[in-house]
Amino acid sequence: MSQFEEGLARCPANHRPLTPLSFLERCAWIYRTKPAVIHGERRMLYPELYARCRRLASALSSCGVRPGDTVSVLAPNTPPMLEAHFGVPMAGAVLNTINVRLDARTIAHILDHSEAKVFITDLEFSAAASEALALASVKPLVIDIDDPIGGVPGERLGTTEYEAFLQQGDPEFPMTEPRDEWQPIALNYTSGTTGNPKGVVYHHRGAYLSGLCNPMMMEMTPETVYLWTLPMFHCNGWCFTWGVTAVGGTHVCLRRFEPAAVFDLIRRHRVTHLCGAPIILNSLANAPEASSVRFDHPVRLATGGAAPPSRVIAAMEPMNFRVIHLYGLTETFGPATVCAWQTEWDGLDLEGRAQKSARQGVHSPSLTDVRVANPDTLEPVPADGETIGEILLRGHTIMRGYLKNPGASEEALGKGWFRTGDLGVLHPDGYVEIKDRSKDIIISGGENISSVELEEVLYKHPCVLEAAVVARPDEKWGETPCAFVCLKQGKSASAEEIIRFCRDNLAHYKIPRTIVFEELPKTATGKVQKHLLRDKARTF
Ligand code: ADP
Repeated sequence: MSQFEEGLARCPANHRPLTPLSFLERCAWIYRTKPAVIHGERRMLYPELYARCRRLASALSSCGVRPGDTVSVLAPNTPPMLEAHFGVPMAGAVLNTINVRLDARTIAHILDHSEAKVFITDLEFSAAASEALALASVKPLVIDIDDPIGGVPGERLGTTEYEAFLQQGDPEFPMTEPRDEWQPIALNYTSGTTGNPKGVVYHHRGAYLSGLCNPMMMEMTPETVYLWTLPMFHCNGWCFTWGVTAVGGTHVCLRRFEPAAVFDLIRRHRVTHLCGAPIILNSLANAPEASSVRFDHPVRLATGGAAPPSRVIAAMEPMNFRVIHLYGLTETFGPATVCAWQTEWDGLDLEGRAQKSARQGVHSPSLTDVRVANPDTLEPVPADGETIGEILLRGHTIMRGYLKNPGASEEALGKGWFRTGDLGVLHPDGYVEIKDRSKDIIISGGENISSVELEEVLYKHPCVLEAAVVARPDEKWGETPCAFVCLKQGKSASAEEIIRFCRDNLAHYKIPRTIVFEELPKTATGKVQKHLLRDKARTF
C-alpha cells in the first residue's frame, strides 16, 4: 500500500459533489448588500435572490416535483429565468429551458420528450405555449410569469402566477445537494436546424466547471456587471447564469435585444461584460447611433455560435468593446475553446488583431484536449494551418449524452472523443480555425471550398451587411458556391461587382457562381439557417 493511502481516504469532509448551486449560497453569505440582479428599476440583492430560489425549490417540491423530474421554462432574460437556474436544481429537478422562438409543434415535442412535470411560461409567449400544451400529450402544472417590468400582456394558461407560486415556498428551504455530481442539472434541446432537436443532458459537475472556467476566459471579477444579451435558453446562457454568480457579479436583465437599449444599459450600469452571436455584434456596429458611441471603460464582449468575420470584430474596437472569441456547441456546455490573447499581438494593426481573433483558438481549462483529426482514423492532422480535419474535444464539460437516444450518444461520444462535426485546421501556433461544418463544406471539382473563407471576403465588401455561402448542385463541378448577400441600407452593388470583388480576393475555383440578394433566414440564436438556403439554391 502506498504511503498516500492510509488515513487519507475520501470522506464527506474533503470530497463533495461539484455543483454550481453552492455559488449562490456563498454569494448570499458574502455580498449582503450587493445587487445580484437589475431588472428595469428593480434591484435584487444576493440574499433576496437566494431566498427566492429556495422558495421556488420549496414550492416545486410541495407540488410533487421529485429529483430527476423535468421543469420546462419558456421565458426571456428576466429574473424568473435566472432563478430557475438555481431553484429547479435545488429541488433536485432538471431545468429544461426552451427557445422562445420555436414553433408550437416543436415546443410540444420538447414537453413530451422531456416528460415535463411543470411548465413555467412568460405571458409574452402564451400564444405558442397554449398551442403547444394543446398538442402535447403531457399535462404539466402550468405557471404563468406576468412580469410587471416591461412584460407583454398575454393569456394566462395556468391557475398560478409565478410570484404567487413563490410565496407558497419556504425561503429557508434546505437545498437538495446532488448525491452525485454526475446527476443531471439541465436538458437543452439543440436548435434543430439539422433535423429533430436532440435533448442534451448536462451534469452538475460540468455546470460547476463551466461556471468557473467561463468567467476566467472573460476575465470576470466580483466587480463584473454582466448584461444579458445572450439568451439564457441557449446552453443556459453559455453557463454564465452560474458563472456570473460564481464570481459574485451583477446580472443585468434584458427582455429583448435592441442596440439603443444595450448602449444605454452599458452606460447606465457600467456594464463590463456581455455575450452574443456575431449577428449581435453586427447589429451593434451597424446601429445608427454606433458612430457616436465610445464607452469610457472597456467592455468585454464574447462572441461565438457562428464564425465572426474579422471585419465585424474590427468594427467593435472603436466603441471600446474588447472582443473575445469563443467556440462551442450545446453538447459542450457552450464555450469549449477561446482565442486566448497573446501579448505580442498587441503590436499588430487593427486588421491583424481582428484576423488573429477570428480564429476559434485553444481549449478551455474545463476541457483536457482539442484535436483536429482525420475523421476516419481520428489521427491528428499536421499543424500546418492547411490540412482540414474534424474538430474533436474531450474533458470535463462534455454532455452526458442525448436523452433517450443511445445511438446518437454512442456516435457522438463512443470513440473516446466528442465529435463536433465541424471541420477546421490547426495552425503552427496551436490555434484551431474552423473552416466549416462538415455538412456545409462545398466540394467543387473535388476541391474543398470553405464557406467561412468566402463569407470572410464578402463581408469585406463595403456594401455588404451580411453574407452566407452554400453549395449549389452543378452538373460539371458537382457543386459550386452560391452566395446569399444582404446589402447595407442605402447601398447598392450588382452581382457582377460582387463577383469581381471575390475574383480579386480569392482563388478562382472558389468564386461564387451565383449571387442572390436577400435577407438571411436565422435561428433564434442568430445562426444563418443554411439548410434553407441550400434548399433554395437547388431550385435555381
Ligand atoms: P445547433 O447545432 O443546433 O445550431 P449549437 O449551438 O450547438 O446549435 O451550434 C454549435 C455549432 O455552432 C458548432 O458546431 C459550430 O458549427 C458553430 N459554432 C459555434 N461557435 C462557433 C465559432 N466561434 N465559429 C464558427 N462556428 C461556430
